[in-house]
Amino acid sequence: MALHLYNTMSSRIEEFRPLSDNEVRMYACGPTVYDYGHIGNFRTFIAIDILRRFLRQSGFKVRHVMNITDVDDKIIRNSAREGVSVRQYTAKFEKAFLEDAAMIGIEQPTLVRATEHIPAMAEFVMKLVEKDLAYRTDDGSYYFRIAKFPEYGKLSKKDFSGMRDGARVDVDEYEKDSARDFALWKAPKPGEASWDSVIGRGRPGWHLECSVMSMEKLGETFDLHAGGEDLIFPHHENEIAQSESLTGKMFAHFWFHPRFLLVEGEKMSKSLGNFFTLRDLVLKGHKPSSIRYLLASVPYRNQLNFTFDGLKQAAVSVERLRNFRQRLTSGNFADGSDNEMQTLAGETIHRMRAALEDDLNTAQAQGAIFEMVRRANAALDGGGIKKHDVPSLLDALGKFDEIFAVINDDDGPKMKQVLDWARTEQRNKDISGELREVVESHQFSDTDIEKKIAEMETARRARNFKASDALRGELTAAGIIIETTKDGTRWRRK
Ligand code: AMP
Ligand code: ZN
Repeated sequence: MALHLYNTMSSRIEEFRPLSDNEVRMYACGPTVYDYGHIGNFRTFIAIDILRRFLRQSGFKVRHVMNITDVDDKIIRNSAREGVSVRQYTAKFEKAFLEDAAMIGIEQPTLVRATEHIPAMAEFVMKLVEKDLAYRTDDGSYYFRIAKFPEYGKLSKKDFSGMRDGARVDVDEYEKDSARDFALWKAPKPGEASWDSVIGRGRPGWHLECSVMSMEKLGETFDLHAGGEDLIFPHHENEIAQSESLTGKMFAHFWFHPRFLLVEGEKMSKSLGNFFTLRDLVLKGHKPSSIRYLLASVPYRNQLNFTFDGLKQAAVSVERLRNFRQRLTSGNFADGSDNEMQTLAGETIHRMRAALEDDLNTAQAQGAIFEMVRRANAALDGGGIKKHDVPSLLDALGKFDEIFAVINDDDGPKMKQVLDWARTEQRNKDISGELREVVESHQFSDTDIEKKIAEMETARRARNFKASDALRGELTAAGIIIETTKDGTRWRRK
């Protein structure tokens, strides 16, 4: 099979093939940096990250561009409230977003910032005006004339045939069914950030930003455009209208929209008290790997209901994968190979690929690896694994982790960063005992621990029990549990 993805434009699952050779050009709508990222945002960004990683695993070169919206209505409102410049205000949240994305294993796309592309945006508007696709109002704002784009509504499947020509809307986000001329460029208002440009002073609207930057980086037509399902209308509809009416070409071939996340069965909202940023969860002591695992566990087009029970289960799953890998890398195995294990590893790789090619069915890919772990663990218990089976099983684990990125344990240092951040932000009261405990038990890295265990074994073999006991004591005090078995020494964190 080949990769098949659901395309919001055609409302069908289609085979995904890039337009040119082996290179995929994809654009993702990035964060609006006005606050810390919440777990809903990260569900969407993880789904896009999984797509990117799987495309690469499938042999494609990926050009992945993402914007940072660093000027919009909310940013202007918040920065004015805090009495700082837009740049000062967004710098803090952009940094936090990038730290969080890295913390949760998201590979960084090429970033483009709206405020660094303002002249190109003004020129884009000018060209739309020249073609009579946009018009200026008395205050110096510019609007897109949607009556000039008869296909308006083709992505969101809304029928706008009865729309009123010239009715306008000037906020970036608006009601689902209002088809109105939307603001491309907004005239300056007192106290708001604005820029000089070829079309006068003002600031770009949010929709314009993505059209201009995506086409600048990826060309007038590219392979895939992504964003959460709330962006289908009006944001992506408006991007299509501006771009296609100007170039006369198709803007993006595939439209990829992960579904919104629910928390404990409800829409996440501050008033319901079920609103969590990524940092909130880490402050409660949850590991970034568990959060990533959970957010990746439901196929992107299905409803993901985030629950704390689910998060605990995700932590157990990650731990099982890590322990299994450790059993393989630290055990002593007899020479030879076992046909059953070789077949199991090969079939698992095949099943994971088939699952992901089926519109990124992450749940099935996870199911396949756990089936392998269950059977191989049983074989390990019965001494049924031989030296030459180990690389094949590790290969299957490695292929899994190229996509899911949870097996390498770097949770400790990441959680320590959040702990340090909370202290500098004077949020000590939000630091849970669980977080302190995990950070403590991670004061040694995996390599440190393995080095100490090797020293401990050397000391024991030399019958230097005082030294080996001292090393064991040091590790135990740091929350590391050590088990000596006939297959070698295993360890895990408390
Ligand atoms: P924003 O920073 O609000 O512009 O959102 C950044 C990305 O997160 C966009 O792709 C949104 O569609 C997505 N997003 C926002 N809320 C949720 C949610 N509850 N579940 C999934 N994705 C979301
Ligand atoms: Zn966008």
